[in-house]
Amino acid sequence: MILSPEGVRVFPEASIETMTNTDNLIRAKGLIASAERVAVLTGAGISAESGVPTFRGKDGLWKNYRAEDLASPEAFRKDPGLVWEWYDWRRSLIAARQPNPGHYALVKLEEQVPAFTLITQNVDGLHDLAGSSHPLKLHGDIWTVRCTRCTYTDINRQTPLPEIPPRCDCGSLLRPDIIWFGEALPEATFREAWQAAESAEVFIVAGTSALVQPAASLPLLAAKKGAKVVEVNLEETPLSPHSDIVLPGPAGDVLPQLLA
Ligand code: NAD
Ligand code: ZN
Repeated sequence: MILSPEGVRVFPEASIETMTNTDNLIRAKGLIASAERVAVLTGAGISAESGVPTFRGKDGLWKNYRAEDLASPEAFRKDPGLVWEWYDWRRSLIAARQPNPGHYALVKLEEQVPAFTLITQNVDGLHDLAGSSHPLKLHGDIWTVRCTRCTYTDINRQTPLPEIPPRCDCGSLLRPDIIWFGEALPEATFREAWQAAESAEVFIVAGTSALVQPAASLPLLAAKKGAKVVEVNLEETPLSPHSDIVLPGPAGDVLPQLLA
């Protein structure tokens, strides 16, 4: 194990292939093939190979702002134009991207497993685009806007937006339908994710730093209830020591190898 400049423990390059090709991969594949109930939690890492930057990666900064300083109700109250400018930039970037083999592997896994639940922290809509039937979006969707005053909400795929910040017909500001830092998760969606974690026999965690709560608690809950936890990531995360099988490597390479 080596230390990256940020102090994150990184799996040595050389070991990635060997580790993903050995017993661990075969074990994980076997567990999944014999499971009736599988749940998957994805994070920004699964979309990295599609060209969507992660928050904590080297491309995570925008005009020297950290995502944590823009994706919050406080930032929006202070400067809605700035926050919308950032979302407009991210929407344009994502609009040009396509799902990758990692997203498609999860569509195939859904067909293979009798009871399958996909839980995502991603807001980019790439799981939908790949064909996943019902991704539980814990953190909302960048393509949905809602009014900050009335009940208006709608899908809006316009990029770039003609007016920043965009306004509702009622005159009030629109906001992205995203769960910002400090905001509560959509209750019904989180309940469904919680139930899937509680009943899963195998819980796969792919491309998440496992730092953002409460999403990060789902694999721990699954493990407590008896699930085998399989982690797919380029780096070691706080979840790695709690995982039964750690598969280091890019999600777009590793996830397709888990299919029957
Ligand atoms: P994160 O940025 O904190 O962590 C990304 C993780 O993915 C890291 O652990 C990294 O090692 C790993 N990773 C990077 N490339 C990978 C690859 N090719 N294969 C496997 N793993 C890879 O992301 P997070 O844990 O999802 O949490 C950040 C928050 O940011 C979430 O709330 C999410 O909603 C939001 N976010 C979403 C998007 C998106 O929708 N695509 C993008 C950036 C941030
Ligand atoms: Zn309104």
